[in-house]
Amino acid sequence: DDRLLDISGLTVDFRTRRGISRAVNDVALSVRRGEILGLVGESGSGKSITALSVLGLVPAPGRIVAGQIVFDRRNLLQLPEAEIAKLRGRRIGYISQSPRAALNPSFRIREQMDVTLRACAPELDAAGRADKARSLLEQLGFADPERVAAAFPHQLSGGMCQRICIAMALAGSPDLLIADEPTTALDVAVQAQILALLHELNRKLGLAILIVSHDLALIRAIAHRIVVLYGGEVQETGDVGTVLAAPRHPYTGALLQSVPDPDHPSARLAFIPGFPEPVPPDADGCRFAPRCGFAFAPCLSQRPILRLVEDGVRARCHLLDPGMATP
Ligand code: SF4
Ligand code: MG
Repeated sequence: DDRLLDISGLTVDFRTRRGISRAVNDVALSVRRGEILGLVGESGSGKSITALSVLGLVPAPGRIVAGQIVFDRRNLLQLPEAEIAKLRGRRIGYISQSPRAALNPSFRIREQMDVTLRACAPELDAAGRADKARSLLEQLGFADPERVAAAFPHQLSGGMCQRICIAMALAGSPDLLIADEPTTALDVAVQAQILALLHELNRKLGLAILIVSHDLALIRAIAHRIVVLYGGEVQETGDVGTVLAAPRHPYTGALLQSVPDPDHPSARLAFIPGFPEPVPPDADGCRFAPRCGFAFAPCLSQRPILRLVEDGVRARCHLLDPGMATP
């Protein structure tokens, strides 16, 4: 079994004064050893909550109400918090979309890397940690690691801060890196550099990466397989080339058509009218129905199942059900 991470039935509810809203509904996905899995969807699709669930970091008032998250054959949802904290950093690295916020502005990079290395490589002494920090910075493409190590975060660019965050995420030699919108806060040239680095880490170290993004072009550029989320549910999944060459799900098709011209980034997603709505736990029908140009009667009353279409592609749409009367 080459599945490093295997999520099934994951369901996350947010309980607020206005009621219960279901952010993630019965999500299943797996990341194989050495692969890059792209998790794509609009904001509010549940992609970040899914990623944070793996790290045991779902923000309040969110709560995992069902499912399994099996990492290297252990169900994380049954481990005590102390065990999960140990896995975080050592076996599962994490980078966010705000590298500056992830770094402490008051400490030099050297000091922050030392704290991280103490936690995830306790076998190293001070000199060993300094060596390791230097080699991590070199691995992330810093030609002058000493100068970077001596700097404070505000003396470095956003792209440099993200490379440092990646270096720190790799400090414990994790098997899996979770990257949540890792380039969203960076300018376009730097985005490409960070993606190239992630690609190289995947190829050279066999690092498995779960990359979360609203940007289908980014996922297409880097991922081996794709999971498309909408309304907290997996709508389509499969090999990235196969899925994007001929999307089976209307939402994937709409996302693909809305991939902007790099010269007009503001056009992104403008083409799918409407916005994802919060979903109550007992909602019927297809979650995309209010925005779907192909919706027909059953879409409002029956939840489509995730159906194996072909070539390992699965999609959740009544149009793919041969037994369903199509419009
Ligand atoms: Fe559209 Fe119906 Fe398919 Fe949902 S099930 S994506 S509403 S056609
Ligand atoms: Mg997010």
